[in-house]
Amino acid sequence: MRILVVEDEPKVAAFVRSGLEEHGYGVTVLQRGDEALTRLGGEVFDAVLLDVMLPGRDGLSVLRKLRARGNNVPVILLTARGDLEERVEGLNLGADDYLAKPFALSELLARLRAVVRRRTGVGSTLLVEADLTLNIATREVKRGGRIIALTPREFSLLECLLRASGRLVTRTEIIQQVWGYSFDPGTNVLDVAIQRLRRKIDDGFPAPLIQTERGVGYQLKGEM
Ligand code: CA
Repeated sequence: MRILVVEDEPKVAAFVRSGLEEHGYGVTVLQRGDEALTRLGGEVFDAVLLDVMLPGRDGLSVLRKLRARGNNVPVILLTARGDLEERVEGLNLGADDYLAKPFALSELLARLRAVVRRRTGVGSTLLVEADLTLNIATREVKRGGRIIALTPREFSLLECLLRASGRLVTRTEIIQQVWGYSFDPGTNVLDVAIQRLRRKIDDGFPAPLIQTERGVGYQLKGEM
């Protein structure tokens, strides 16, 4: 899951970034509305957290422009508490939800899951490979009918591999999607995470699903 956070208050931006990263989201932070619009023109995100008062171009104007372009990425507006007019206008412009500042991380996570779930649609919340299933809505992972408990990071990693539908995903792609752009790819954190994930989903099963392309990346593939 990759989230674009457009927020010019460093404290709020840092709080949101660390909170989301801890829960396995990949996070990109921008401070300016005009930069956000440019970035959204060329890159796909799973959701956008959009502050209303921004330099360059305000959040409502970014949202208006985005929807005019036909971009339906889920957007949660970050508004000032009590500003009803702003919220109503935002929802009219096509925002999926709003959060009044200051907000708790648990509330942000709940709203985020809800908008992504709504946008993904019930029919496509289940990612499947062989006898492994991952439910995006309930965050339940099963292999051979057995429930597997994963950490948020392992869940994101598995989701990233499943979304590729059997395609090889490069190390860079995985790191960007699961850890975010700010992450230094020089460490062995990915190898360690794959090792842990493998232990949980492949150990004890006759056919391993995680395939390694040494130095290049990974793919999730069941036997045909
Ligand atoms: Ca602001």
